[in-house]
Amino acid sequence: MTTTKKDIRKLSLEDLENHLTSTGEKSFRAKQIYEWLWKKNAHNFEDMTNLSKKLREELDNVFSIQNVRVDLMQKSNDGTIKNAVELHDGNVVESVLIPTEKRTTACVSSQVGCSLDCTFCATSRLKRMRNLTAAEIVDQVVIIDEESRNYFERPLSNIVFMGMGEPLLNYNEVMLAIRKITSPEGLNMSPRRITVSTSGIPKMIEKLADEDLKVKLAVSLHSAREEIRNTIMPFSSKFPLTDLMESLQYWYTKTKSRVTFEYIVWKGINDTKADIDALMKFCKRVPSKVNLIEYNSIDDGEYQQADSSAIDNYIETLERNGIVTKVRRSRGKDIDAACGQLANKSSE
Ligand code: SF4
Repeated sequence: MTTTKKDIRKLSLEDLENHLTSTGEKSFRAKQIYEWLWKKNAHNFEDMTNLSKKLREELDNVFSIQNVRVDLMQKSNDGTIKNAVELHDGNVVESVLIPTEKRTTACVSSQVGCSLDCTFCATSRLKRMRNLTAAEIVDQVVIIDEESRNYFERPLSNIVFMGMGEPLLNYNEVMLAIRKITSPEGLNMSPRRITVSTSGIPKMIEKLADEDLKVKLAVSLHSAREEIRNTIMPFSSKFPLTDLMESLQYWYTKTKSRVTFEYIVWKGINDTKADIDALMKFCKRVPSKVNLIEYNSIDDGEYQQADSSAIDNYIETLERNGIVTKVRRSRGKDIDAACGQLANKSSE
């Protein structure tokens, strides 16, 4: 339901202090409120028991707390959990908990839909409705952390910005969310456990490098041949691979953090020796590793996972050239939670 009250979590600590002092309250109350909002995950002002009743009522008159809620939770046979998360305005995004033996990873969304047009991705079929706020991103993480504790008896260990949307096109809110997730006043997670996964927007990668956030960077590459990449990801014709590489070299110079290339091998699209050689040469230009991701066909089946021999050829060539290569099995296929499958089907 839409509300006209301002979302209190859009205020910085300083904004909140200014608001409180302008109404005759002591400024230290702002820190207490902030802690309720960002650390204790309060859903209403009534819960803020170290504030006077009068202050809680005053806050409630002026502000709202626009928490998200899980509209539908689905559990896969392999333990993966997909949440259809309803936002305060009725929009829905999806986030996924991926459990493995050693880790629990949250795959979170950064936009409602996506403005980019990767032809293999189910999300690209949803129009981009709006960007998520930092609070809505943090809420997805908090929910998955709770699910991890409930179902797997351990806290969330990793976060990937690989759900719906292009995180670097919602830059400010994603940065704010990462700061809340990593700060002691927030969830206090290590930034090294957070991966920002982008489709590859050079100037935003450089901007991210300048932040000194200590997060990891993954790039959905899928082809190191310009003409093929432009077919798979049409928007990338605006960002030539030379510009992308320059931004990645800048990233490495500034952060000393190796880039991960996410790469799907499709039958008849990028499964030849020329494709493998192009990737190998591209990888050699910046410290990097490759994740070969298993593909999940989306309904019309235009894209098909390549034969295992093509994938073996990739692994053999890359490893022979000293490039660390991992095959990532997709998880949660039976509930459409796997990579490239997030399309709000659960809420249709
Ligand atoms: S792969 Fe990522 S960037 Fe491309 S359309 Fe899907 S959500 Fe958007």
